[in-house]
Amino acid sequence: MCGIVGYIGYREAYPIVIKGLKRLEYRGYDSAGIMLYDESGLKVSKTKGKVSDLEEKSKEIASSKATVGMGHTRWATHGVPNDVNSHPHLSNSGKLAIIHNGIIENYEPLKKELIKRGYTFQSDTDTEVLINLIEEVKKKENIKLGKAVQIALNQVVGAYAICVFDVEKPDEIVVARLGSPLAIGVGKDEFFIASDASPFIEYTSNAIYLEDEEMAIVRLHKALKIRKIKDDSLVDPYIQELQMNLEQIEKGGYDHFMLKEIYEQPNVIKDTYRGRLHANEGIIQMAGIEDNIEKFLQAERILIVACGTSWHAGLVAEYIIEEFARIPVEVEYASEFRYRNPIITSKDVVIAISQSGETADSLAAIKLAKEKGAFVFGVCNVVGSSISRESHAGAYTHAGPEIGVASTKAFTTQITVLTMIALRLAKAKGTLSNSDYFRYLQELEIIPEKVAEALLTNDKAKEIAAIYKDATNCLYLGRGYNFPVALEGALKLKEISYIHAEGYPAAEMKHGPIALIDEQMPVIVIAPKQGHYDKVVSNIQEIKSRSGKIIAIVTKGDTQVRGLADHIIEIPETSDALSPLITTIPLQLLSYHIAVMRGCNVDQPRNLAKSVTVE
Ligand code: GLU
Repeated sequence: MCGIVGYIGYREAYPIVIKGLKRLEYRGYDSAGIMLYDESGLKVSKTKGKVSDLEEKSKEIASSKATVGMGHTRWATHGVPNDVNSHPHLSNSGKLAIIHNGIIENYEPLKKELIKRGYTFQSDTDTEVLINLIEEVKKKENIKLGKAVQIALNQVVGAYAICVFDVEKPDEIVVARLGSPLAIGVGKDEFFIASDASPFIEYTSNAIYLEDEEMAIVRLHKALKIRKIKDDSLVDPYIQELQMNLEQIEKGGYDHFMLKEIYEQPNVIKDTYRGRLHANEGIIQMAGIEDNIEKFLQAERILIVACGTSWHAGLVAEYIIEEFARIPVEVEYASEFRYRNPIITSKDVVIAISQSGETADSLAAIKLAKEKGAFVFGVCNVVGSSISRESHAGAYTHAGPEIGVASTKAFTTQITVLTMIALRLAKAKGTLSNSDYFRYLQELEIIPEKVAEALLTNDKAKEIAAIYKDATNCLYLGRGYNFPVALEGALKLKEISYIHAEGYPAAEMKHGPIALIDEQMPVIVIAPKQGHYDKVVSNIQEIKSRSGKIIAIVTKGDTQVRGLADHIIEIPETSDALSPLITTIPLQLLSYHIAVMRGCNVDQPRNLAKSVTVE
């Protein structure tokens, strides 16, 4: 994910682009770049770091009177965050420039082909491949930029929102989208292009949101024409009048970043497995695993170290790796692990999970593991972060920036990555039958649709939240794969609503927490059809006998628990091993609504910080 901004009109482009990028920094901030075009030609400045670093670096061109420009704030997917990998990227001739949000999945074969034709590459990005492909098409077919972009896009697989500029046609910017957002602000004698409307809200309230597979040539003094990339058919531009203010736009119309991030989950889970999961072919391909598969296969055990929500994702991984790949797994709090003189050998594989990749305790834990000779694999969201650099290998979750302090999409994308690892290892070890292996791949591929369906429980969650918002204690119960989900549900409630909550394995309740149950106590029970359903139903009976208030997360169509629980939230069915990706959704929504109703600061809960970089 990244932010892109373009301007073409009569105003000075530099301040518009820089200000726009600052508003889009929530989308990514590991590097930034700007391109301007004035009578003295093309000017490009780019740097690792934030937009403020770019401002510092681009001082020389800041005084340009250019009235056309483009800028990018990056969230790296291909190639570490550095100056060279930052956007814009230029084609080999230096005449074409591109900014890109997304991933060109087939960039490798395209790159090889272009290299054969004499192209050279400065960066490690997929984006630079695309701009040179456009150049190659343009040259070979002797056609204009718009047509060349269209032909090139028909050859790429992946996701993109792009702006392309050609010094030979400085009165236009070609834009296109597939899978990444792109808005065009339409002013009088000027156009704005951006990932969302926030960069241009003070200039115009007229916006066109490009749909997937659409492109446009944004040309000065010309009516905007939108075409389908595939068949060139014209689409009527639909100009919307924006009603939102700036803050609302940055949050995509959601009241809080947390809610926005909850709703992003179907898309970001897809981003996580994009290019890695090929369900029909029965292939899971993750470079970090492929290159080190022997290390995993020879491991005597896998040690997972993490903190907070990531630790819960680690617990899910323990169940899934042991079940699928039959490798012993232990999950440790990084903060404990690092200080307890653990036994680690060179036969261990250590997986460190951290959204930010900066968690101090996890970082210290992997340093210790490395010293003892273990192979360290990082699962992080932030590209180029300390844990990703310190690890021997790793896999990014590609969830995009998570701003809400309470982790939501980081959790589900971590589970997605760890599930793919478990499946890949199972395939290599032959520990899953072929039919189960294929079935899981296929199920994982359609998980985003089920997550989207689970999000439809929002109204129900809100209704239940209104009833229990004043509770002082809350119990979350689950078994098997859904025990870690119970822990995560309780953590979500604690951290944003300040209600005391405990997560427990449902059967353990009898060994203590059952003493807490009375008619005031809401008990959230995760009871999907797959898994230990009958056992959980018995646990529900035990709560009911003690007058506890039961809120049950059940599979759609469930009748048994419906008859016992005070409230039910229905979710789509999936296999037990993948169910945490679904069952966690209504729990996120429930915590969110309770916190909002209690007037809590959902995105920045008291005493917490997004990434814990101190021990
Ligand atoms: N794939 C591109 C890169 O790594 C764009 C990533 C983004 O959307 O920021 O540079």
